[in-house]
Amino acid sequence: MTAGNWAVVFGCAALVAVGTGVLAWRRRRRTPAATALAVTMAGVATWSAADGVVYLAGSEPVQRVYVPLLMAAVGLVVVGTWVLARTVADPSWRLAPRAAALLAVEPVLLVLTGALPATRDLVMTDMVTGTAGAESRVTFGPLFLAHTAYSYALIGVAYAVLARRWLRVAGVFRRQIGILLGSACLSTVGNVVAVGSQLDGHGTDVTPLFFLLTGLLDCWAIFRGGLLRLVPVAREQVVETVPDAVLVVDPDGVLIDCNPAATRMLRELRPDLDGDLVGRALHDVAGPRAVGVLLSTERRDGHRVAQVRPGVWLDVRDSAVADPRGRALGRILVVRDVSEQQERQLAVERLNRQLAEQVEVIERLRAVVAEEAVRDPLTGLHNRRHLDRVLEADLARRPRTGQLSLLVVDVDHFKAVNDRFGHASGDRVLLGVAGTLAAAVREGDTAARLGGEEFVVVLPGAGREQALARAERVRREVAAVRHLLDGEDVAVTVSVGVAVCPADGTSAAALLEAADRALYTAKAIGRDRVVAAAPAAGPALPVPAPPGDLPELVAGA
Ligand code: GH3
Ligand code: MG
Ligand code: MG
Repeated sequence: MTAGNWAVVFGCAALVAVGTGVLAWRRRRRTPAATALAVTMAGVATWSAADGVVYLAGSEPVQRVYVPLLMAAVGLVVVGTWVLARTVADPSWRLAPRAAALLAVEPVLLVLTGALPATRDLVMTDMVTGTAGAESRVTFGPLFLAHTAYSYALIGVAYAVLARRWLRVAGVFRRQIGILLGSACLSTVGNVVAVGSQLDGHGTDVTPLFFLLTGLLDCWAIFRGGLLRLVPVAREQVVETVPDAVLVVDPDGVLIDCNPAATRMLRELRPDLDGDLVGRALHDVAGPRAVGVLLSTERRDGHRVAQVRPGVWLDVRDSAVADPRGRALGRILVVRDVSEQQERQLAVERLNRQLAEQVEVIERLRAVVAEEAVRDPLTGLHNRRHLDRVLEADLARRPRTGQLSLLVVDVDHFKAVNDRFGHASGDRVLLGVAGTLAAAVREGDTAARLGGEEFVVVLPGAGREQALARAERVRREVAAVRHLLDGEDVAVTVSVGVAVCPADGTSAAALLEAADRALYTAKAIGRDRVVAAAPAAGPALPVPAPPGDLPELVAGA
């Protein structure tokens, strides 16, 4: 190939390298790997451009500039490759200023040595650029060889780190590291070939050509493979940063790793613990109590939530870890302190319970109030309001049950009781009469106090005969009760009016009126008796009066 052709090839390599470098530089804010790639490409571009210029014009001054320029370019490539490999292998890795200074020492020395006429021969000498058909010639000095060995060593270490990372990662990052490794190997192989072929002083440095391919490959990787776009975060970093405590336990239950959150949590849990936590049994580190509580807690959706200490609730999720062959390596425990949520939940549950209790109390009170609303406060019997409702309901139901009877019960000469023994004694008598009525009613019947000393008993289903018999029984039972008033044994009597539906009326008002009329008759003809309403509003039918004249107030013997 002619010198002109070589110059064109090197020129192309330089352009591709510049392009790749610019692409990388534009992405420098995303990842330090971009800056490293840009530096590498700057070196490649300089190297290729320098080779191109030398082939284009191999004059003495050009050759004098070439040596230090080449050394600077190689230095950029080596340092750039080193930083790129380290950054891609571990995204948290950063070039420390001291390391940067150390890395700069060798290239700077080589550039100076190559630039100074006195020392240039130690680097490179006898440069002859191949003209048409002729071969280029060069003699490497001892410093150049030492520099080559140093560069290979540095790049070798960088590639080893990158290769180890490549083995460990998966997915897109593995692909990216693979491309980087491949492209880097390409240029290295090219350089080995070039240096090897030139060791005898003849031949052309074809390294930039390989760099051309490297640049193209990296360019493709940036555009198509997303190289430098995805910034992988080291998994170790994730584990170190997550707020959850992460603990790794081997199959024997020994803690083999834990992140800072786990260390903090364990130290809080066991302030008495000192020394290294890793290497000790989890049982010992977390405390037998906490481990026991957790193990005895049922797992739900893969989580165990338990109170390991008063006020301290932990949510523990553990997963088994196995190697690719399925051998158990231990367990990973991810622990989260859920005390706050738990306390909140408990408080909500407590509030709910209180609320339920209060609702129950209110419900009870409401029932009491509802019951009181239909009860007569003195006697405890139902009141007029309830009677009206029940009577209407019973009458509405009546066609199915047939008849319905109504007793209106009025205490005889009650005013005399009040007058003689006082109102309070009168109340006690009313209570006694109410008690007798309440005992007389059966299921489905209703006894109510209409007001004053007047009561009503509703007997659904009862016909005239039954009603009269029940009324008579009530009359007798009331009369049989003795009330001790002011040391006196007193008995009272009642008169009862009986009305039957449908014979004496079909509405509540008609029935009450009929029963009232019958009661009036009972009073009129001597009291202490039961009188049935006359059908169709005729004269009331007195039930045969009990034998003998009864005194108005029956005083006990
Ligand atoms: P009769 O045989 O005609 O029914 O005579 P009576 O005295 O029972 O009837 P009257 O209607 O004249 O008197 C009823 C009395 O009942 C008048 C009233 O002061 C009294 N009374 C009404 N309500 C109560 C009460 O809640 N307690 C007491 N102790 N007395 C009451
Ligand atoms: Mg009365
Ligand atoms: Mg009365």
